[in-house]
Amino acid sequence: MSRPLWKESAAAISARVRAGEITAVEAMDAGWDGPASLWEHDVHAVVHTDREARHAAAEAAPARGLLAGVPVLVKDNLCTVDYPTTCCSRILAGYHAPYDATVVRRLREAGAVIVGKGNMDEFAMGSSTEFSCYGPTRNPWDLSRVPGGSSGGPAAAVAYGLVPVALGSDTGGSVRQPAAFCGVYGLKPTYGRLSRYGLVAFGSSLDQVGIFARHAGDVATTFAALAGWDEYDATSRPAPAPDVSNWDAGVTGLRFGWPANLWANGVDGAIVDALERSANALERAGGTRVPMEFLPGEYAVAAYYLVATAEASSNLARFDGVRYGLRSSDATDVRSLYVRSRSEGFGPEVRRRILLGTYALSSGYYDAYYLQAQRARTRIRREYARAFESCDFLLLPAAPTLPFRVGEKVDDPLAMYLSDVFTIGANLAGTPGLSVPVGVTPEGLPTAVQLLGPQDGEGALLRAARAIEVNGDVARLPREHEVEASWPGKR
Ligand code: GLN
Repeated sequence: MSRPLWKESAAAISARVRAGEITAVEAMDAGWDGPASLWEHDVHAVVHTDREARHAAAEAAPARGLLAGVPVLVKDNLCTVDYPTTCCSRILAGYHAPYDATVVRRLREAGAVIVGKGNMDEFAMGSSTEFSCYGPTRNPWDLSRVPGGSSGGPAAAVAYGLVPVALGSDTGGSVRQPAAFCGVYGLKPTYGRLSRYGLVAFGSSLDQVGIFARHAGDVATTFAALAGWDEYDATSRPAPAPDVSNWDAGVTGLRFGWPANLWANGVDGAIVDALERSANALERAGGTRVPMEFLPGEYAVAAYYLVATAEASSNLARFDGVRYGLRSSDATDVRSLYVRSRSEGFGPEVRRRILLGTYALSSGYYDAYYLQAQRARTRIRREYARAFESCDFLLLPAAPTLPFRVGEKVDDPLAMYLSDVFTIGANLAGTPGLSVPVGVTPEGLPTAVQLLGPQDGEGALLRAARAIEVNGDVARLPREHEVEASWPGKR
């Protein structure tokens, strides 16, 4: 084998493990002894891991299943029995979940090996992975830049080669935006398609578990392993999951919406260029471009930051210093126990969200803010449904900018919130979205586009991603993952 194991796709690793050519331990160590030994110190993608636990998991993994022997990193808001689950918050310091999240259990049943927990913005609130109590993750393409967020750790780990697949969560773009910033694929499925059981709740009506990978086919395989009804999640979709096994079937006959009005202003030229090259690649592969006007962005950011903070303020009420994690040692009575534990435990962005959400839900303001936001949400859902009457999926930016610098937006919440302008609509509408890497700028930063589909439209998104992967003149690096030649930070 000339190709090092850590560069292989999940598909290639699992085929070799099933055939008995390599073991799950070898597949996992290839990442830790190779790229992680070079990169992890600088990138800081992983917050909880342990060599013994990793080896125990790899030795216990069955050498069969869709993901046999595939090492996977999961975001620190997904419960795992073998590592702490802290949402990168001081308030959950030392918390060990007594059970695996359903998606984690399904990964293990499919033969995958959980190698640890990925860094994230505290409670998944953020777009840069700078709001982690363990310190930021850096973008492996340029260490002075952010990897995006909130699932920046899992995205960066897939990009630098620690693991071929990782799981994150996407409430307003936290899988698709970091995937775009790190040059990997990132899928947010239809709401309810992947179980939320064991995913620590942020905005329950928006949250979805999402998948990172370096190959479109690996996203499809992981989706197939995880998707399906779960009796432990009351919002799980009962209808059978869409069949994505034809992810390589091409796009002949598929129509893609081209709402160029959306990126007429304020989108980086490199991303406009990526959109055009992707549209050309889709046309060359037999897809049809449908120019359209589409304006769901107008109220989406405002509606999202009301709905998400309202739900968060209610979900985070359970962290009170009594049942989980941190308990203030200065408390003198029950009330001061709550106040002090929460003040010491939550970071500034989480406190800001709790205050915003509590305000929006308070009597007297409820109708003006929360109810109004719910009305806007209904309109956004309708606009999405209408757009999909004339196309099979939409082609959009994933984020309006290239990866920004560490520290650039950390003190400007509004600028940070605008990173999500193209992603949050799909969370409000409950529809799927996929970030697709389309090469690098001359300065060596990844560029990406986003595909949005109707509910249960994952199949068309994956077919289109694959068509861009093979027909684009620009997908070279993510597909072949030639880190040595291309990564400026490489030592
Ligand atoms: N950046 C958005 C926020 O801060 C989205 C977060 C997410 O998807 N978890 O809320």
